[in-house]
Amino acid sequence: MAEQNRAVVIGAGLAGCEAAYQMAKRGVKVTLIEQKPVKLSPAHKSGLFAEIVCSNSLRAEGLYNAVGLLKEEMRALDSLIMRAADLSRVPAGGALAVDRARFATRVTREIIENKNIEVRREEALYLPEDGVVIAAPGPMVEGLLAKDIEDTVGKGMLAFYDAAAPIVMGDSIDMTKAFFASRYGKGGDDYINCPMDEAEYRAFYDALITAETVKPHGFEDFRVFEGCMPVETMASRGFQTLLFGPLKPVGIKAPNGGKPPFAVVQLRREDSKGRMYNIVGFQTHLKYGEQQRVFRMIPGLEHAEFARFGMMHRNAFLASPGRLNVNYELITRPGLFFAGQITGVEGYVESASSGLLAGIFAASDLLGRPRPVFSRNTACGALADYVANYQGTDFQPMNITFGIMNTLESQTKGKEKKREISERALVEIRRIAAGL
Ligand SMILES: Cc1cc2nc3c(=O)[nH]c(=O)nc-3n(C[C@H](O)[C@H](O)[C@H](O)COP(=O)(O)OP(=O)(O)OC[C@H]3O[C@@H](n4cnc5c(N)ncnc54)[C@H](O)[C@@H]3O)c2cc1C
Repeated sequence: MAEQNRAVVIGAGLAGCEAAYQMAKRGVKVTLIEQKPVKLSPAHKSGLFAEIVCSNSLRAEGLYNAVGLLKEEMRALDSLIMRAADLSRVPAGGALAVDRARFATRVTREIIENKNIEVRREEALYLPEDGVVIAAPGPMVEGLLAKDIEDTVGKGMLAFYDAAAPIVMGDSIDMTKAFFASRYGKGGDDYINCPMDEAEYRAFYDALITAETVKPHGFEDFRVFEGCMPVETMASRGFQTLLFGPLKPVGIKAPNGGKPPFAVVQLRREDSKGRMYNIVGFQTHLKYGEQQRVFRMIPGLEHAEFARFGMMHRNAFLASPGRLNVNYELITRPGLFFAGQITGVEGYVESASSGLLAGIFAASDLLGRPRPVFSRNTACGALADYVANYQGTDFQPMNITFGIMNTLESQTKGKEKKREISERALVEIRRIAAGL
């Protein structure tokens, strides 16, 4: 039988540490199970908690930016990860970058010194069978625990390979060059089409096959599956290949009887309102800067604002929509929460934010208090909603973006509108924080 007022957290990464801290500060006794240093995943190098495995940037600051807002919300909710990041900051212009060793040391110390947290350095092989549990083993989870998670959530519900195409904001597409149409006129105008003439295609093609790609991590499985082949790999097979693949122009008529396009890039709605579009078939290994440079050569995308860049890496994540609720809790097993990248949020800050919320919800249950409600007016609520309620057919890990938050009726546009959305979010977060 699980003890009252006690919870288990699996994984002392960004999400697990935040979740453990949020519960412990409210008086919950937490057992935190971390396999390091007994066992290190291929991405982890040290025995410290909250290890930042790649870039040391927690991305942009400020309220004109969704990830800046998410960080502000977390600060208002007394996030351990944000406090440690702010205290380990290194100069990085408008971004928050950290000295990774100082950051991880600070988080590790706070966790170890917390009287309500007992740390067990061992590999968790299974999910505990009962009680309140937050599973935050990260995107490198493997072995028996991965199998048990899959058995618990549902066969085939844990994906191990992530191939995502870039997503651009709909209002940044130049519709004087692009147009709505479906191939052969089938279906509604579900796609935005960016037509290219031969010279434009040739310039794009040359840039694509010579652009710089991300160096593979030693452990990453770079086997290329036909179904999710990077667009640049496909292009390298020959000048014509893309014209028979994602850029095929057949069945797409130029509007107003214009000249038939030589190639067409299609963008598909990512959300029901059409605020975001993914570039169909453009999963890629290109570096982010290169994606921006090369994909902005596509007519209509010259000023495209990227909500998410394309990526491919090993990345275990659950098919969360319909299985987790907006509290990151497994619907079929109340009391079992997931947190971090495994839920389908993408990024250090997003992973920590899900741990923060899961920790608050779990603590609320254990203390017999109502769970607070984070609406989609807030960045952290919008992420939880994306994970639980994504409506499309291709659920992929997601960075925070204004595109998944509630819209705001306002006369303002652009940067100022983003600031208004952020301010609305912070009012809600401060109200929730005051009631916790
Ligand atoms: C290679 C790679 C590069 C990435 N680069 C970036 C980047 O540059 N920027 C960015 O924002 N995001 C990046 N991410 C995505 C993501 O934000 C990070 O992976 C982030 O660390 C996720 O946080 P987390 O808490 O979910 O998992 P993690 O931080 O990985 O923490 C999981 C913890 O669980 C432990 N664990 C796992 N299994 C067990 C077990 N069975 N028993 C006990 N403990 C266990 C692990 O040792 C680890 O400490 C990257 C991901 C990968 C895989």
